Amino acid sequence: MKKLILAFAVLAFTVNLSAQTEAPAPNDTTWKNAYRESAPMINDLVHTKLDVRFDYDKSYMYGKAWITLKPHFYPTDSLTLDAKGMDVKRVSMTKGSAIKDLTYMYDGLQLRINLGSTFKGGEKYTIYIDYVSRPNDYEAKGSAAITDARGLYFINPRGEEKNKPTQIWTQGETEATSVWCPTIDKPNQKSTNEIAMTVPSRFVTLSNGRLASQKKNTDGTRTDTWKMDLPHAPYLFFMGVGDYAVIKDQYKGKEVSYYVEKAFAPVARKIFGHTPEMIGFYAKILGVEYPWNKYSQMVARDYISGAMENTTATLHQESAQQDARELIDGNAWEGTIAHELFHHWFGDLVSSESWSNLTLSESFANYSQVLWFEHKYGKDAGDEENFSDMSGYLQSHSEQKDLVRYYYADKEAMFDAVSYNKGGRILNMLRNYVGDSAFFKSLNLYLVTNRFKSAEAHQLRMAFEEVTGKDLNWFWNQWYFGDGHPKLTIDYLYNDTTGSVSIAINQTQADKVFRLPVAIDIYTGTEKVRRQVWLENRSDTFTYKYAKRPNLVNVDADKILLVEKKDNKNIDNCIHQYKYAGNYLDRKEAIDFASKSDDPKAIALMIASLKDKYHGLRSYAIDKLNLKNETIATLAEPVLADLAVNDPKSTVKSAALSMLVSYQDARYKGIFASQVNDSSYAVAGAALEGLFELDSVAGLTAAKKMAAQPAKGKLVESITKVLVSSGDESGFDLLLREFNDMPPSQAKMNLLQPFAMMLVKANDIEKVKTAVDMIVKFRDEIPEEYGISPFINSLLQGIINKKQTANPVPGGSDEQINYIKLKMNPKKGSL
Ligand SMILES: [Zn+2]
Repeated sequence: MKKLILAFAVLAFTVNLSAQTEAPAPNDTTWKNAYRESAPMINDLVHTKLDVRFDYDKSYMYGKAWITLKPHFYPTDSLTLDAKGMDVKRVSMTKGSAIKDLTYMYDGLQLRINLGSTFKGGEKYTIYIDYVSRPNDYEAKGSAAITDARGLYFINPRGEEKNKPTQIWTQGETEATSVWCPTIDKPNQKSTNEIAMTVPSRFVTLSNGRLASQKKNTDGTRTDTWKMDLPHAPYLFFMGVGDYAVIKDQYKGKEVSYYVEKAFAPVARKIFGHTPEMIGFYAKILGVEYPWNKYSQMVARDYISGAMENTTATLHQESAQQDARELIDGNAWEGTIAHELFHHWFGDLVSSESWSNLTLSESFANYSQVLWFEHKYGKDAGDEENFSDMSGYLQSHSEQKDLVRYYYADKEAMFDAVSYNKGGRILNMLRNYVGDSAFFKSLNLYLVTNRFKSAEAHQLRMAFEEVTGKDLNWFWNQWYFGDGHPKLTIDYLYNDTTGSVSIAINQTQADKVFRLPVAIDIYTGTEKVRRQVWLENRSDTFTYKYAKRPNLVNVDADKILLVEKKDNKNIDNCIHQYKYAGNYLDRKEAIDFASKSDDPKAIALMIASLKDKYHGLRSYAIDKLNLKNETIATLAEPVLADLAVNDPKSTVKSAALSMLVSYQDARYKGIFASQVNDSSYAVAGAALEGLFELDSVAGLTAAKKMAAQPAKGKLVESITKVLVSSGDESGFDLLLREFNDMPPSQAKMNLLQPFAMMLVKANDIEKVKTAVDMIVKFRDEIPEEYGISPFINSLLQGIINKKQTANPVPGGSDEQINYIKLKMNPKKGSL
């Protein structure tokens, strides 16, 4: 699964936000003593056959299930199935055409069945269950724990919402498949399955495996039967129904298809079209062919997660559906597409035995994004992804969590920056330590050994030990079964008298000391000598002789460590590092250093880095320019003007245009005016802000014109900024419309800032109320663990503060303030 990761925009005028992203300390700490064992295997699933139809009026599903099981080892005369919130009509044993009703107890969550006789280990039997699934009725049934995991979702089932299609989709992970399918809802179970869905004939369906048959019924419905011939875990079972365009590709003769809303049919290949190439790439590096018979991807409305790797039938949030102009700025969903696909080996083929071992799925899926970007767009792109994910972990305040955790309050909390981001970086370090060929050979052995089964982290270690011949307990104990990360301070002492450099590395983190293999490259001119060392102590010092003082000592030369560090280099070292060390992070670190210095050499480095070969670093360097420094401003200006027009990447153009605005030079009006109509939203948005700065009338006119047309992303933010700055409230309608239509997403988070600015200035009480309602709805539809509530409440408080002080609004203001106060639900994490 890929959860939504929502970065909090910097809100200039909100009250202090520090320490708000940490989850409130739970009162109940009994979980700390409750070891989370892998689910005991008493009966094993073998095959699951369903026959279902849907009641759109009631949001019910009428189901018949035939579930084949066998005792795992010991004989048993009973079976417990997970069946959440159902109406259970009948439970029977079937044998051929014979059917015998069984006695059972049902508590709304589990079905305890007396099998009537004892079955031996491995002896198969089939249970028949007639039931009604009622996903929306949980609260009524008092099962509060699963209200957030309805499993089966009816979207606009009665067609009452005009601009929303009618859809049905399921979300199994973690244990919600049992809302619509009686099963043993644990990740260490595997079952083949067969699902027959009867739907109105205008809809298409999607499920796991192959479409075995389609049958037209006389009542205007059609029955589609999907068959999955290979075993997979219940949390990966899937059903999707809706009015979709299905665009078909193929990989080695297997169907690869994209289910998108019809309006997005023309761009479906631009969004998903790399999929066949990705499948081939992953199959090749893993040495394991894509195991399943097809690969489909479907886009869902109102999907609260990012995406989910249902076997052969991945479901994506609607943010995946980007229009042609958005895609010019880059496919924001490409990493997610790679992530869910890679799960088809790590997660679907070999599953995590328990949620405690989630790293075996999510760390790999996370890391697969680095692998893909590196392969497709070069090492800089892979390294940038790696660094971005490391930063995500470092900002998450998760230092005290082990990667493999046998104690947790809620299994949903396993889906965090440790299982994803940190685990991915640990794999990157492991790859560097054992070498590429041993790394992928070990993954191959792990997959081949455990395919169609589930595994624990130890099984991954065993595969690596077998391939490399190295004992790796130290690595697993430190990184998989331990918490934290190293914090290093690195100092260099050059002594020309003795002709030696001493490199002192201190580990400053609390508690434990890390054991780290580290590469140190020592540069003299273009000559480079590599020293391989181990950090094993709180303080380690390494001394090397030199004939001529080195230009650079580069610790962690491959830039792979998961680390926070203070690296005390000087500007000459950094210049050498930028030029000769060459990794993405080598260059980025040099830019970071130079951006804080007024030294002419540092300034020269900043200017040079504006032309970095990698577009990500060009944009980065542009953003880091300190234009208050006159020398920098003067030297950067012609480069920026050139990039703003000629850079091949729209994101770099956009960054350069934004910087050019601050020169306030009428010479650039032409550039801004022409780029306002650029096909890239990022370029058009930046140009609009520039035009407005130089010519407010022309800028406002352009903004109003653009507000009347479809716009997304950066352009919406820019239009809004211009309209807000000019005191024009007409932009409010555009913003209300855009915000309302957006799924919960990063783009929606980014819109909060202009939205808040607009709210501060707005007079119209009805519009203010509508806007506040929308913000509150966004707040309340995001699960608590995202920590959005306190953030949004402080945003609302910031609006109140502004309304009371900086921009008192004549009349209406008190009513507005009172309304906002009313909506700051204290239970939802106010300050
Ligand atoms: Zn995932």
